[in-house]
Amino acid sequence: MADFMTLNNDTLRHIQKQLTLKYEEFKRKNLKLNMSRGKPCPEQLDLSAGLLEGLNGNYWAEDGTDCRNYGGLEGLPEARRLFAELLEVQPEEIIVHGNSSLALMHDLVARALFFGVDGQHAPWGQQPVKFLCPSPGYDRHFAICQFFNIEMITVPLREDGPDMDLVEELVATDETIKGIWCVPKHSNPTGITYSDQVVTRLARMKTKAPDFRIFWDNAYAWHDFTADPVPLKNILTACKEANHPDRVYIFSSTSKITYAGAGLAMVASSVQNINRLKKQMAIQTIGPNKLNQLAHVRFFKNAQNVRLHMQKHAAIIRPKFDLVLNLLQTELGDKKIATWSRPQGGYFISFDTMPGCAKKVVQMAADAGVELTKAGATFPYGIDPTDQNIRIAPTYPPLAELKTAMELFIVCVQLVSIEKILRSREVTT
Ligand code: PMP
Repeated sequence: MADFMTLNNDTLRHIQKQLTLKYEEFKRKNLKLNMSRGKPCPEQLDLSAGLLEGLNGNYWAEDGTDCRNYGGLEGLPEARRLFAELLEVQPEEIIVHGNSSLALMHDLVARALFFGVDGQHAPWGQQPVKFLCPSPGYDRHFAICQFFNIEMITVPLREDGPDMDLVEELVATDETIKGIWCVPKHSNPTGITYSDQVVTRLARMKTKAPDFRIFWDNAYAWHDFTADPVPLKNILTACKEANHPDRVYIFSSTSKITYAGAGLAMVASSVQNINRLKKQMAIQTIGPNKLNQLAHVRFFKNAQNVRLHMQKHAAIIRPKFDLVLNLLQTELGDKKIATWSRPQGGYFISFDTMPGCAKKVVQMAADAGVELTKAGATFPYGIDPTDQNIRIAPTYPPLAELKTAMELFIVCVQLVSIEKILRSREVTT
């Protein structure tokens, strides 16, 4: 079928009538499908079968630590070594902690507001604080800012990362801009990976705030669909080379490697930042769950096995992404009413409707029993300025349910677009 904009009103109304019938049919099915969050499916969780049984009565780490007891705030040596290798940092540059990287980010922001980040400059919270938010982005990053009353400045996220001309201009002139959120690989939700040049510019850029920090949330560091993934330049090394060794905090977790919410989370940074963080975290906790750390290390043994494990994840979820992308291409490919990302990894597909249509599409899908991520969620304050972006999360539902959900979604997109086109013609004629 042709570009919708080229069709006359009668043809559009005819298509509208047919699609409305289809939509009513979906409604009668009483669907109850949820595609709102990027969760691993049960088959993915099954890949880690045996992990929790792996200790088998042996609770002692390599240095003799009895993991059933208190202590070891920075994480077990073997856990630090494993994830340091995976994140391409040194073991002394990483803390392997509890179950949630988001919690590490939240607490780091809170401490920065209370105490500052380096012991030299004032607590961030003593004056208004702003963060740069490349968008579309991860809604929970934005929620942290909103919670702590940090003003968010939207920066466009392009194919190779944030609009760096704008980022450089903003940070060079405004001392109250203290941070930037980055999901540098297979970004949530657009799936892009930052180019080497963007990483270098982030590391080098001159910031008016001497205590500026990059929050580098590498949640999808190993979540590739292909054997030859796009490489991501090492930001910690780039920061060191640019004489800003303390500029970046790197976060990651095994939430989408082993168990979501029951894996291991980590933060990596300069030794100076890590040592400061360790002292502060010692006030919060006596130590992390080392039994889980030991179980993870025993399960994987080495970094290569983590990579192999990720290929098994890819084998499960790639067909789901393919299904969504093929349906979108077949049904919407030539209608010129939407665009979407074609990620090489990660958990999401980012979908853009015509301006002013996203909310309506999400609402229509919800009315017929398919819950999607709230329209607007991918932008600061939940406000998508052009009301276009919808985050599609294909990993959790089984293929058959995913197919039904996407067929409904595609009907909704077309119906809302036709209505929009017809209305725009009424206004102009
Ligand atoms: N960062 C990003 C970019 C994510 O997409 C997610 C999960 N949706 C998280 C962090 C959450 O990580 P964790 O489970 O380690 O808190």
